[in-house]
Amino acid sequence: MGDCAWQATSTTGGKTSDKRALESVADLVRRVELAEGLVRAAEARASVTCELCGTAGVLHRTPAPWCKTLCPACAERAGYAPATEAHGAA
Ligand SMILES: [Zn+2]
Repeated sequence: MGDCAWQATSTTGGKTSDKRALESVADLVRRVELAEGLVRAAEARASVTCELCGTAGVLHRTPAPWCKTLCPACAERAGYAPATEAHGAA
């Protein structure tokens, strides 16, 4: 009798803690997906905004493996070539 009561309590406790663990994992997944969405949104904005003056720009690159999003005016001043042209030439 005493054994059965102990087992029932133990089983219920185990299930509750499993459920909580699953809920916290699901919550973590939702948070990660939300964070990834924010990062993608920020990247999308950064890819069309000049890093130097903030106006509309496109991705540019230098001979060094480094890319910057710049408007045509800033790109010319800094000696950057549009990433698409540099990629086509290589
Ligand atoms: Zn600019």
